[in-house]
Amino acid sequence: MMTGNFPMDILAKRETPFYYYDRQVLEDTLWEVNIQSARWSKAQVHYAVKACAAPEVLQMIADAGLGADCVSGGEIKAAIEAGIAADKIVFAGVAKADWEIEYALEQGIFCFNVESQAEVEVIDQLAEHMHTKAHICLRINPNIDAHTHAKITTGMKENKFGIQLCDLEEAVEDVVKNRPNIVLEGLHFHIGSQITDMKVFEALCKCINEVVVRAERIVPMHHINVGGGLGILYEHPNHFPIPDLAGYFATYKEHLVMRENQCVHFELGRAIVAQCGSLITRVLYVKHGVEKQFAIVDAGMTDLIRPALYGAFHRVENISNPNADEQTYDIVGPICESSDVFVEGYKCATVKRGDILAIRSAGAYGEVMASQYNLRRLPGHLMG
Ligand SMILES: *Cc1c(COP(=O)(O)O)cnc(C)c1O
Repeated sequence: MMTGNFPMDILAKRETPFYYYDRQVLEDTLWEVNIQSARWSKAQVHYAVKACAAPEVLQMIADAGLGADCVSGGEIKAAIEAGIAADKIVFAGVAKADWEIEYALEQGIFCFNVESQAEVEVIDQLAEHMHTKAHICLRINPNIDAHTHAKITTGMKENKFGIQLCDLEEAVEDVVKNRPNIVLEGLHFHIGSQITDMKVFEALCKCINEVVVRAERIVPMHHINVGGGLGILYEHPNHFPIPDLAGYFATYKEHLVMRENQCVHFELGRAIVAQCGSLITRVLYVKHGVEKQFAIVDAGMTDLIRPALYGAFHRVENISNPNADEQTYDIVGPICESSDVFVEGYKCATVKRGDILAIRSAGAYGEVMASQYNLRRLPGHLMG
């Protein structure tokens, strides 16, 4: 069985479970992001910090010149500590607390992506108290179906995110006329995650084009932020370690109408970090059920919750014995929940107690979602 590239001597010495981030894969991905986004003279990619906030990962992203897309004060702090310049940071989220808004204003971030008129009012007041100006984009909910998992769809009218299309003019006019401490920079969109069908991004472009025309009847929009959401191939971490960034940026180049001097912004999370990360775990027991056999490992849903939360698939590789004959397993964790299953009826190289397995494509929404349920230790990570 083909596996990723793992330094077994280093991994075998460490207590499991833990996350392993492959420096080379991340570097190659960041290189591709920069090459492909150079299609525009004015473009900025903001890495969505919520996907993975390991300091070593953030550092490499900062070094590559990317900005950050943050959804909390803690993420803004982590981005700044990693060396990402405040003027490349955007701040989204439906429920920004006052202290988070104040902290972002103190740091002088580039832009708040504002999700309601009520939030506009609060930011205006806090900026006034601080004798400063807040720069914002209005997050518009374009009512587009991302054709992805219901729990990761954000751009439909029944979702909680953004300002409804029908309220666009009212929201823009309110900022321009009534909010002296706010500078309206442009518009923001983000419709969901793990999108692999480029037609969805094409549909988003067509919607954005119309929305920008409507908004610019009132005032110029200097910045268009199209959000993120590009998916990866969970089935093929070895054949496609780098996602279709070429197709993604080409789609926007072809379909998004940009005026001269307008700047386009992207917010990619998963596409940048998912394939560089693996959850490394040891087999504790092999257990034979009535019709199944279970490979019981020391990692659980507390370390990687995506299979339990989204029904997500992750490839699992026996990196101790990749060439053993294949058998079929349910690979399960130690947590006292029936949903603590990584994968069912899965064919992989025969495993025995002590073998090390790599649960692949786990760099995004993996370590950041770990919990201490059952009073377990957090997994921690290693950058190789
Ligand atoms: C989560 C999020 C992203 C990143 O989504 P990915 O699917 O990981 O690319 C971008 N923008 C906003 C506003 C988000 O909430």
